Amino acid sequence: MIDDTLPTVTLSNGVTVPALGLGTWQMGEDARAAQREVEALRHGIDLGLTLIDTAEMYGQGGAEEIVGEAISGRRDDVFLVSKVYPWNASREGTIAACERSLKRMKTDRIDLYLLHWRGEHPLAETVDAFETLRRQGKIGAWGVSNFDLGDMQELLALPDGGNCVANQVLYNLSRRGVEYDLLPWCQERGIAVMAYSPIEQGSLARNEALIHIAKAYQATPAQVALAFLMEREGVVAIPKSSHAARVAENREAAALDLTDEDLDALDAAFPPPSRPMPLEMI
Ligand code: NAP
Repeated sequence: MIDDTLPTVTLSNGVTVPALGLGTWQMGEDARAAQREVEALRHGIDLGLTLIDTAEMYGQGGAEEIVGEAISGRRDDVFLVSKVYPWNASREGTIAACERSLKRMKTDRIDLYLLHWRGEHPLAETVDAFETLRRQGKIGAWGVSNFDLGDMQELLALPDGGNCVANQVLYNLSRRGVEYDLLPWCQERGIAVMAYSPIEQGSLARNEALIHIAKAYQATPAQVALAFLMEREGVVAIPKSSHAARVAENREAAALDLTDEDLDALDAAFPPPSRPMPLEMI
């Protein structure tokens, strides 16, 4: 029998999340697609993809509203991740942004709140605000996004900086730079790495090398791209799809067990980094 159990990642605050979640970028932008987007997310939750990643940025709040609709009546089944814009990430601005996000999602807590990328506000202020929100129970934990190694080192040197539980970064087969230093550094410290754009915004689903490997398993190229990430310790991949059938397809990536031979073929098609590379961003 095929084992399609979802691998999990335990965050440093002790909470365990599935290693495959649901992205929401580009949702909530068009009212005509709203019902389909809600259904895709609900189907994902039904299949165990209970980590939902969103941000105040997506659809200018529209994606958070879609998430609010999708989790209505089942808030406790879900681990919610949202993000604050860097220009809102002052001591007071972070708290106000969080409260707006809570309202849009019709909930009283965000499980993981991230600084979307580094901006002008001093990191210490943002950390302070995150800690206040955590004490108030409005967020369960906090983290960052698009932080390279130097940014992480600076963050962890701050008071309470060590409470960061995750760094969400661009990571997929065609963007493996993080494997050189950032990923092992986070793994050593128990900081989860959330891999965004895990199928390179859909383009890995059309990649010849992946099509070839997938064929042997009667799988799809997107599933191979996701299986590659899910096998890595401490990595959570968050593919986005507004189609329930594709969400189900992505969920079944957990059934793929890539062999050493497959991994060698992937290394040949997508060489791992041999020197430090600056973190890429989409
Ligand atoms: P992605 O998940 O790599 O790809 C999404 C695209 O691929 C969509 O166009 C989707 O189309 C398509 N797709 C999904 N499953 C597919 C499949 N099985 N076969 C073929 N195509 C498929 O890219 P992403 O949305 O950029 O990244 C995922 C999530 O990461 C985002 O939604 C967001 O939550 C997060 N993110 C965070 C940051 C950050 O700065 N922190 C940046 C980018 C993304 P359909 O929807 O039409 O199915």
